[in-house]
Amino acid sequence: MSKKEERRNKCIDALNKARAMELQAIHQYMSHHYKLDDLDYGDLAAKMKLIAIDEMRHAEAFAERIKELGGEPTTDLAGPVAKGQPVEEIFTFDAEEEDKALDAYNQFLLICRENGDSISVKIFEDIIDDEQEHYNYFDAVSGHIERMGDAYLSRIAGTSSSTGLAPQGFVITGKE
Ligand code: FE
Ligand code: FE
Repeated sequence: MSKKEERRNKCIDALNKARAMELQAIHQYMSHHYKLDDLDYGDLAAKMKLIAIDEMRHAEAFAERIKELGGEPTTDLAGPVAKGQPVEEIFTFDAEEEDKALDAYNQFLLICRENGDSISVKIFEDIIDDEQEHYNYFDAVSGHIERMGDAYLSRIAGTSSSTGLAPQGFVITGKE
């Protein structure tokens, strides 16, 4: 294998590790979205759904770059999806997941930089900004629940679960 191929493979590997983390996050946040919907915490459910959609975009961005480099985008999840968590745990857990992603992506970015792939560096930079926003949101909600508990949750109960999005898909034409 040439030096160039070796460098390229290291970048593909870093991108695929990140993609597997995104695939896990998609399933984790969808699961949390359904749970919050069941509990009728509409606003929390809607934002969780939007964050899951952000993660889908990330998984696609990594896959597109992997394909450009001649690799095969993974379909494996980085780890198992946690189930059955009460609302008091969901946001602390998800904030930690984002924190782990921030740390990992910063390391992957360095691997791409060391191996001369500036396009992947840019992709990681953009996605790291998004993960920081996800972290800030999860951490804020986690703090509200910790400090105010039921007083906070009772404000959220019964709120709308609309995302305000006109979802786009092959069949979906704008009704939610
Ligand atoms: Fe992500
Ligand atoms: Fe995220």
